[in-house]
Parts: sequence; structure tokens; C-alpha cells
Amino acid sequence: MLLYKIQSSVEHRTQSIRDSHPDWPCRKGCDDCCRSLASEPLLSEPEWRLLEPVLTPDLKQRIATGANAPRPVTCPLLDLATGACLVYAVRPLACRTYGYYAERDKVLGCYRIEALSDAPVLWGNHARFDSEAAELGSTKPLSEWC
Ligand code: SF4
Ligand code: SF4
Repeated sequence: MLLYKIQSSVEHRTQSIRDSHPDWPCRKGCDDCCRSLASEPLLSEPEWRLLEPVLTPDLKQRIATGANAPRPVTCPLLDLATGACLVYAVRPLACRTYGYYAERDKVLGCYRIEALSDAPVLWGNHARFDSEAAELGSTKPLSEWC
């Protein structure tokens, strides 16, 4: 399945970055990015099909409540107490690349990641990722899939 192939490719790249930089700041509980989204998470249909089975009624309610929230958006799938993603194993692709990928010279990540931008070039290539992910079909906001 194409989605799993892309997930595997992203995991390979991000693991390689973590292996070469053990102090990489992206980790469980570091949730500034999940609290300052430009919009609700955007998903393609294959991503939604993977995510939907783990959504409890409570999570679906949170998604509905958070629909069209003003920016910056806090993800409804974030555990606010621990800073952990409640759907980590099936989280969208965009969540998997954030902090590790770059668009030309623009690193996708928070100020902690920006501070690493003078490190040797090791980011994933977001243009290549975009072209692979486009094959999954168009995306729409999480609440519109529910
Ligand atoms: S992008 Fe920033 S806030 Fe998000 S996990 Fe990485 S270091 Fe933490
Ligand atoms: S789905 Fe998970 S990783 Fe993605 S923004 Fe929401 S809480 Fe963060």
C-alpha cells in the first residue's frame, strides 16, 4: 500500500536524522507544534482510513468541537496533560515529517529546530515527499472526514 511505503520512507529518514543527532529535540511531550497548527490536520483518504478506527466517541466529539477553530489551532488529538499524540501510531504524514523536513532553505519546524539550521544539511526533502504524497489524493481537514 502506497501510504505504508511513504510512512516507511519517512521513518527511515527521520530515524537516520535521530541516529546522527541524538539530541534532536522532537520527542514525546514536546508539543508546541501540535498546539500551534495553521489549521486542523489535513489528511488524504488513505490516511483517514488508517486513523478512523482508533477514534473514540470522545475524540470524535473533540474533533467536531474544534472544527473551524481560529489560528493557532491546538490539535484535538493531542493529550493536553502529557503533550503526547493520542493517535501516534496512525498520525497523519504531515505530523511525521514536521521538524525533520525542509522546503528549499526553509526548515519545517519550531524555534528549536530553527536553532539547528546551521547543522550539516540533513533534512528530508519536502518537495520529494509532497510529490509522493500527492499520489494519495487530495487532502481535507480532519473534521470534514468525521
Ligand atoms: S517541531 Fe519543535 S515543538 Fe514539534 S516536536 Fe519538534 S522540537 Fe518539539
Ligand atoms: S495528530 Fe498527533 S502529532 Fe499530529 S498534530 Fe495532532 S497531536 Fe500532533
